[in-house]
Amino acid sequence: MNIIIVVHTEFGYVSNHEVVYEKSATAGVSEGVPNLVKIADKLHAKITFAVMPEVVKYFPEGIEHEIGLHVHSGWEEFQKGDITFHVGDRYLRDHCDQSLTSTVLRDFPYKEQREMIKTGADYLEDQFGKRPSTFVAGRWSIDTNTVKALVDTGMERDCSAMAQGSFYDFDWSKLPRICMPYHPSEFDYQDKGTIPLLIVPISQMFHAGNVNPEVIPIVGLSWLKACFSEYYKQGMPLFHICLHSPCMTDPYFLAGMDEFLAFISKHKNVNFIFASEVHEYSLVKPFTMLSPYILGMNWKILRLGVGPVRAQLLQRLL
Ligand SMILES: [Zn+2]
Repeated sequence: MNIIIVVHTEFGYVSNHEVVYEKSATAGVSEGVPNLVKIADKLHAKITFAVMPEVVKYFPEGIEHEIGLHVHSGWEEFQKGDITFHVGDRYLRDHCDQSLTSTVLRDFPYKEQREMIKTGADYLEDQFGKRPSTFVAGRWSIDTNTVKALVDTGMERDCSAMAQGSFYDFDWSKLPRICMPYHPSEFDYQDKGTIPLLIVPISQMFHAGNVNPEVIPIVGLSWLKACFSEYYKQGMPLFHICLHSPCMTDPYFLAGMDEFLAFISKHKNVNFIFASEVHEYSLVKPFTMLSPYILGMNWKILRLGVGPVRAQLLQRLL
């Protein structure tokens, strides 16, 4: 089984076991990145850092992992409790025509999406010496125009798909929960087709939610392990973990990630790869396997119930 770890590399800090996307918290990159690398290197795990152009100057030197592109369009202020923060990318704001302030990428016309992707990829290529070929959309927000823009700008794969999820800013509701990489159709990015871009969906827990250490406070680490076991026991070829770099500045999440990766690496025939090494696998027929989850049942899940857990997970998206 192949494992990929894709990191949305952005500014922020952790407060009350939750990432706050505060632009002045540059340690979200300068410390979050090397902290994760330290954990990963112990296990020879490979990391794909999907980097926002605005954070490039804070990305540590000498990191021998892979660089992808993470695009947050627009510029908006958000409020969470008494915390105010901004979403958007200063570099792209300064270097691209953006007719909207929306932080939902798919709100933008094709031409502007294409310009953001190209400008970001050009800049990362200039700064890191290698052109990124993996893309992650901020707020998981893509549409058919994004797919077209990605192909036009030479991107080879997208890691923004949250199978079954839909919210006002994204829609992945057509994908089955356990969904392996596929080429999208030119008419609908959620249908299979022949577009030369590989959509690599994030692994989803039962009954929903990204496999991401940031959900440990909500569902417990045992639930993430259960999801891995569900995929592993039925021979799924790929397991895709996502996270945001600021969570790796916090000892609680570092310990959780460390334990999760150690658990995964104890299994036979597990192979950590870069996103760029993912390919299309032969047809699989996944099914929901409840036994790992019964074993992984914990007080967090029992207290909240699966439905409210899903609502909490959706609130944490960015
Ligand atoms: Zn992001």
